[in-house]
Amino acid sequence: MVEPVEKTSLPDQVDVAVIGGGIVGICTALYLAEAGHSVVVCEKGIVGGEQSSRNWGWIRKAGRDKRELQLMIESARLWKDLVANLDDDIGYGQRGTTYLAATEAEFHKHEVWLKENAAFDHGAVLLDGQQTDALLNRNDRAFVGALHTPSDATAEPALAVPAITRLARKRGAIVLENCAVRSIERQAGRVSAIVTEHGEIRCQKVVLAGGAWSRTFLENMGIAFPQLAIKSSVLRTTPGPEVVSGAIGATDASLRRRADGGYTIAKSGAAEFEIVPAAFRYFFDFLPVIAERWRMMTLKFGPGFFGPMGRHRWSASDVTPFEQVRVMSPQPNMKLLTSVLNNAKRLHPRIAEVRVAEAWGGLIDTMPDEIPVIDEPAGWDGLLIASGLSGHGFGIGPGVAKLAVQKLTNNKALVDPSPFRLDRFGRRQAA
Ligand SMILES: Cc1cc2nc3c(=O)[nH]c(=O)nc-3n(C[C@H](O)[C@H](O)[C@H](O)COP(=O)(O)OP(=O)(O)OC[C@H]3O[C@@H](n4cnc5c(N)ncnc54)[C@H](O)[C@@H]3O)c2cc1C
Repeated sequence: MVEPVEKTSLPDQVDVAVIGGGIVGICTALYLAEAGHSVVVCEKGIVGGEQSSRNWGWIRKAGRDKRELQLMIESARLWKDLVANLDDDIGYGQRGTTYLAATEAEFHKHEVWLKENAAFDHGAVLLDGQQTDALLNRNDRAFVGALHTPSDATAEPALAVPAITRLARKRGAIVLENCAVRSIERQAGRVSAIVTEHGEIRCQKVVLAGGAWSRTFLENMGIAFPQLAIKSSVLRTTPGPEVVSGAIGATDASLRRRADGGYTIAKSGAAEFEIVPAAFRYFFDFLPVIAERWRMMTLKFGPGFFGPMGRHRWSASDVTPFEQVRVMSPQPNMKLLTSVLNNAKRLHPRIAEVRVAEAWGGLIDTMPDEIPVIDEPAGWDGLLIASGLSGHGFGIGPGVAKLAVQKLTNNKALVDPSPFRLDRFGRRQAA
């Protein structure tokens, strides 16, 4: 159980307040503290309680959108630096990722990605069927080939953010759990304070790293943010023989070898979307993604329509959606996961004996073009949004945080930040 934060433990004033204690918020606080700024992170539940602990644990460059690939390459370097400074083992290792191609068409997709991204230092290579067999230590030519990236890494998500939090605190950041932020105050168009459920904290700058809650938070301020939350289900197994030490992606089942000898298994793209009012507001933004992915998606109407994520208006004295849901923990889809586990066993007969040890759900925050926003909305000087990492933000999280800090402090950016602008969606600011 999380201890409630006492009102007295709130600082009166900091340089920067960070909303959200996921990988982005905590890394942002770490980098700010290392640069000598006073910083507080306010997390409504527990640090890393939502997406950042529920993900598959892949830290990959392979298969990324060209617009975020250089940022991911920088992020991969930042992960290595982070791990070198942590006091705790988070199961990090450059064990490689491998995307298997069961058909010529899948193999061709990998060829196209490699060709289109030849200018980047991603380290990915194509394996033919024989090389794929050798990697998987088998001899049946079950796969046409694979996209293999030996320098990609994996880590244990449940351990990572708590360990980085300990480092950030050591560097001077204040991290408050059970401390929801209700709103942001402005004076003459400039950020002047955040209002938390326990009181106000004056600050010059705010970073919103609210994951799947960022849209809800911003809409209350009249800022349109086309982000929707999609449910994804994951399982972990009992320990079993090693297939590879890293991660393997395939259409029917993807898996990662865990530090405990089991596997984290799920199916890429298999997502469920519970319709909220915002789905209508942003329908046309998302039309291209829906058109591409509709076979893999399940849409449903449910109580969520009237639930906390459906709200977008409150005042600073109200109990907000962030206090109503301390840790978003959706029910996993066990029917889907049972079939995904069977697929994994069919693809990798060596793990035929593993059993389900645990299953969970997570809400993925998705933008229409599936890359993050790292930008300041018009009319809100001092507010920076770092959100919308669209289902692959564990790997790129430190990079997003570093870029956010560089923008906030007007320092040289490690990559061109223009692909991450909010105005790329061409929307007016009033939600
Ligand atoms: C099932 C699943 C599998 C995934 N697999 C991978 C993978 O293998 N590799 C990869 O790179 N990425 C993966 N991802 C995506 C990755 O986990 C996310 O992109 C990343 O963790 C997002 O980090 P974040 O800090 O932006 O958000 P989060 O981790 O969601 O953190 C946001 C935090 O903000 C808090 N918050 C929100 N509003 C408020 C408020 N008003 N006041 C206080 N606190 C607030 C929330 O409680 C939450 O803790 C996966 C995601 C899921 C769900």
